[in-house]
Amino acid sequence: MTRLERLQERLDERLLVTSLVNVAYLTGFESSNAALLVDPERGTTLYTDFRYLEVAQAVPGVEVVRGTRTLVQGIGQELDGRLAFEADAVSYADYELLSAGALQLVPTRGAVEELRAVKSDDEVERIRRAARAADFAFQALLAETWVGRSERELAWRLLQLMHANGVDELSFETIVVAGPNGALPHGRPSDDGIPERTLVTVDWGARLDGYCSDCTRTLATGALSKELRRMYDVCLEAQLTALEGIRPGMSGVEADKLARDVIDEAGYGEYFGHGLGHGVGVDIHEAPRLTRESVDTLAVGNVLTIEPGIYVPGVGGVRIEDLGVLREDGVEVLSSLPKELAFVG
Ligand code: ZN
Ligand code: ZN
Repeated sequence: MTRLERLQERLDERLLVTSLVNVAYLTGFESSNAALLVDPERGTTLYTDFRYLEVAQAVPGVEVVRGTRTLVQGIGQELDGRLAFEADAVSYADYELLSAGALQLVPTRGAVEELRAVKSDDEVERIRRAARAADFAFQALLAETWVGRSERELAWRLLQLMHANGVDELSFETIVVAGPNGALPHGRPSDDGIPERTLVTVDWGARLDGYCSDCTRTLATGALSKELRRMYDVCLEAQLTALEGIRPGMSGVEADKLARDVIDEAGYGEYFGHGLGHGVGVDIHEAPRLTRESVDTLAVGNVLTIEPGIYVPGVGGVRIEDLGVLREDGVEVLSSLPKELAFVG
């Protein structure tokens, strides 16, 4: 069954898909201007403009309609009756255009995202290859000098090594933060040199064949203070506990709690200010969410990250992140890098 057919089977009314990532996921059609009308009774209509017409006409299983640059304007004028739309992907301006005519609009969320959350074997293999290329690049960087080079220089060097390992592009801007800068979970690499005897956190990912990887390692640049060493050990214990405990059927909240309990217990609860993890696929952040507020339930075939962190202002930070695929009996990790505290010079 194709992805479109699987979506059709789940819908009980017409859905207008305007998220370009979702259109590409469902049809393979990549463009900067497209909308997909999926009707469970009739079939699927792909709207695009002149620039993409020829490519659109090669998409199997859809009827192609040529629209203007502002596709929703034409759709709003031509269609009537009930129409579900992706509430997270329609701007207020587009909503006004869509609702200017005879359509009765119904906001929906997550229809395509729920499909995307469960990966096929082929998707898992693509993500595994992206993760492997990112691992190789990082291993090459480990052999180089770190102390004294700036965070930005290391981020740039890792980008070069990723390309050397066949990566198409980064799945997000690499994070390299050392010493007190490490207390900013998503800090941008600065011109500060990497100090000795501290922690350096690197969060990086590759995009390969349309799929993302995501990994974080925290390294030591020499002997650490007791506090930094303890932060690392607690974070690692939390990460391993979650990795071993996560099962299909668990809620995103329960999964998050596995790691959070370990960190709370050690007294660092207030320094773990983000969720445990997120789904990864064609987007770097997608369903399911593993957080205190998550409404998701974990399922076999989810590809997700497990990334607890501890960030103490003025002191430093640690985050350890693995990417894994959820199987019947637990998480199979897709990254191969060790997690015992490693030292760079
Ligand atoms: Zn990450
Ligand atoms: Zn992540």
